[in-house]
Amino acid sequence: MTAQDGHDQAPGGARADARPMRLTVLGATGSIGTSTLDLVARDPERFEVVAVTANARAEDLARLAIRVRARHAVVADPAAHGALKAALAGSGITTAAGARAICEAAALPADMVVAAIVGAAGLGPTLAAVGQGTTIALANKECLVCAGDLFMRAAREASATILPVDSEHNAVFQVLERDNVEQVEKLILTASGGPFRTFALEEMRGVTPDQALRHPNWSMGARISIDSATMMNKGFEIIEARHLFPLRADQIDVLVHPQSVVHGMVQYRDGSLLAQMGAPDMRTPIAHCLAWPGRMGTPAQRLDLAALGTLTFEAPDPVRFPALRLAREALAAGTAATAALNAVDEVMVKAFLARRAGFLDIVTTAEQVLERMAGTTGFGEMTCIDDVFAVDETARRLAGEIAGNGS
Ligand code: NAD
Ligand code: MG
Repeated sequence: MTAQDGHDQAPGGARADARPMRLTVLGATGSIGTSTLDLVARDPERFEVVAVTANARAEDLARLAIRVRARHAVVADPAAHGALKAALAGSGITTAAGARAICEAAALPADMVVAAIVGAAGLGPTLAAVGQGTTIALANKECLVCAGDLFMRAAREASATILPVDSEHNAVFQVLERDNVEQVEKLILTASGGPFRTFALEEMRGVTPDQALRHPNWSMGARISIDSATMMNKGFEIIEARHLFPLRADQIDVLVHPQSVVHGMVQYRDGSLLAQMGAPDMRTPIAHCLAWPGRMGTPAQRLDLAALGTLTFEAPDPVRFPALRLAREALAAGTAATAALNAVDEVMVKAFLARRAGFLDIVTTAEQVLERMAGTTGFGEMTCIDDVFAVDETARRLAGEIAGNGS
């Protein structure tokens, strides 16, 4: 279950036993990973970095590992191990490589594991971290999109605490009164609307990867930037919220808010609408997780509401952004459908970035794959993680066939 109680921190964020927090960062070279390590480097006494991991960028990982005095550094790509060893020679930092080594690093005893690998590739390592029954700062929303019920069950069984890093979910987590959950009418996840918020559907047809990567407010990895442009990211976030919070899908709303200042809201039965606000800087939600249930300082820009003057809100357009409907339909069909949706999206985002598919093909292909899978095998129950990997594989294959891009 999401964080409830039983954490060994004193009020104010000082750890009760005053020892540094043992921290592992999976996906350390990414946007979330580097933001996390930036906070760690600013407050080195507070943290003891157990392990940092990356896919293949060995030099970047080595530089980060040295900066935060990590004990262990791991790359997923075995071909990058030589470069990692060379860059860390004489540092005393141990190294390893391969997908299994990433899972082993995730299982090393730590007080918190930041799960910031992108995509379904993060599921195995994050589950390995869950298995040690520790606190997970979860950025890798794909864990919940691909394996929602199974992932949350594994967390419950291991007594792992899941803290949401995703800014909207972190916002909701901050304003959700856990003793009054039955008094909640709905959650509202805000969405910037991405770079094509005001584009006509026909204009979106020809957009380039460069245009789609240019997010108006946030600086993020490529996958989530494209997902923000299609609004598939917000669809995934509806699925993520459904698993993190004890509410029905119809209690989770999306509201377009181009300034990205209000990140999430909770509406209660008495008419109160509680919102969390902040500059669009992921260091704020990351710090909230790192220090929870206390708080810690960050250099994030403070909001100057007088200078901002106006905040605007609008309903999302279901015609130009069909990903939202598709994600809701997949959520209703079950975890096999949401896992398939993630897999097609991974394939199609990659194809779009490589200019092998058009922007609108991403969601169109996802819809076709889901229809085909529902029509042939149907979306059965997922009973174990291998079921997730099987669905993931089928969806990737169908996406390649339908889009004809050989992905
Ligand atoms: P990114 O692309 O910048 O970084 C991804 C990280 O994962 C890198 O360190 C990379 O080396 C590692 N990685 C990639 N493939 C791997 C593999 N096969 N095995 C092991 N490691 C691998 O991505 P990001 O923007 O930091 O996003 C990370 C996660 O956080 C995603 O799930 C994303 O949806 C979520 N998230 C990101 C933001 C944001 O602002 N960037 C906000 C909310 C949620
Ligand atoms: Mg988000």
